[in-house]
Amino acid sequence: MSSSNSTTGTGTGRRIVVLGAGYAGLTAAKGAARHRSVTLVAPEERLLHRIRQHETAAGRGRDWPAIEELARGRRIRHHRARAVDLDLAGHKVALDDGTTLGYDTLVYALGSRTAWHDVPGAVEHAHPVEHADDVRRLIREADRPGTLAVVGGGATGIELATELAEAHPAWRVRIVSAGQVGGIYSPKGRAHIRRVLDRLGVDVHEDATVTEVTPDGLRTTAGPITADLTVWAASMEPHPLAARAGLAVDDRGRALVDDHLRSVSHPDVHVVGDAAAVTVPGIGTLRMGCATALPRGQYVGKLLDGRTTEPFSFRYVVHCLSLGRRDGLLQLVHPDDSMKPTVLTGAAGRLAKAAIVGVVFSSLK
Ligand SMILES: Cc1cc2nc3c(=O)[nH]c(=O)nc-3n(C[C@H](O)[C@H](O)[C@H](O)COP(=O)(O)OP(=O)(O)OC[C@H]3O[C@@H](n4cnc5c(N)ncnc54)[C@H](O)[C@@H]3O)c2cc1C
Repeated sequence: MSSSNSTTGTGTGRRIVVLGAGYAGLTAAKGAARHRSVTLVAPEERLLHRIRQHETAAGRGRDWPAIEELARGRRIRHHRARAVDLDLAGHKVALDDGTTLGYDTLVYALGSRTAWHDVPGAVEHAHPVEHADDVRRLIREADRPGTLAVVGGGATGIELATELAEAHPAWRVRIVSAGQVGGIYSPKGRAHIRRVLDRLGVDVHEDATVTEVTPDGLRTTAGPITADLTVWAASMEPHPLAARAGLAVDDRGRALVDDHLRSVSHPDVHVVGDAAAVTVPGIGTLRMGCATALPRGQYVGKLLDGRTTEPFSFRYVVHCLSLGRRDGLLQLVHPDDSMKPTVLTGAAGRLAKAAIVGVVFSSLK
């Protein structure tokens, strides 16, 4: 554990510290802080509304509410700092401002970040999707419209490519995928995504695994692709602190938890959101996503507040995608996340996606 200048808790009661104020951490803190004091640690002043970052990249973002504002009415103290070390035996978290927080119960909700997969040049020449403000600025400051490659043919890459193509029609947008773009969706869903990409003039490069990123584009298994600007939205990996600190993790670095979302190695640590590998009977290990982060955060909030003792349960219902501002896709799924044939597309899909994003936002307030 790094040196510290103070050790503080959350008051006289049981000390609850929540690390991370994303969908999982914020909802866990709000639920737990109905009757107890909670210290919520996250570096940002305002909500990190990740599911709208593709809009921010395209220049449509806005300032989201301050975390303090979202926590109003609850006994939450927002400590603006980054956790740098975790002493699981000593029940202490070291922060980058020199503080050390003691805890009785820790909620670990540090989420995920771009996974570069050790692709040469990626860190130097590509911009991770979470640096949406940089992408927006680089497009705005470019001398002339150029070519823009989005790496990743999953939901985030598709949302980003369509949003950027619609907002910047003078730019040539390319989507580059190791497999099929939108490969997880039903045939109807995939066909709709393809129609929208074609309508927006997005070049689609499938079965093109990126092997190198260079200042002027990509080398892929399907040949070179030129790009003035590359945005990486290929996949996510959990924050590395859990593994480094010694929490039991799976082969992707996600903390292993029991059916009450407690670390299997350290039961005084609850792990929620993208940071956790949660296995639900009949469904399997939940995927990373706001759709799974939010209910897990809400559940732990209730558990710590004594409003439930039941094990965590979860069923998938839908996947939803925005495809620019006028189109969208709502894909119905079975409880185990396998695709149903039914989809809603076009303006109806777009409205459904907007409604779901609205529900997410309301649940944070
Ligand atoms: C453009 C885009 C669109 C998306 N769309 C969807 C969608 O439609 N549906 C869906 O299900 N998912 C979507 N996702 C994925 C979704 O955003 C994530 O799965 C979700 O944000 C995970 O929530 P979380 O609370 O676990 O972590 P995060 O949202 O990643 O939050 C992590 C928190 O931890 C904080 N933190 C990080 N490091 C530290 C540290 N060292 N110390 C303290 N705090 C720290 C962060 O600042 C943040 O507050 C999208 C992602 C992107 C990028």
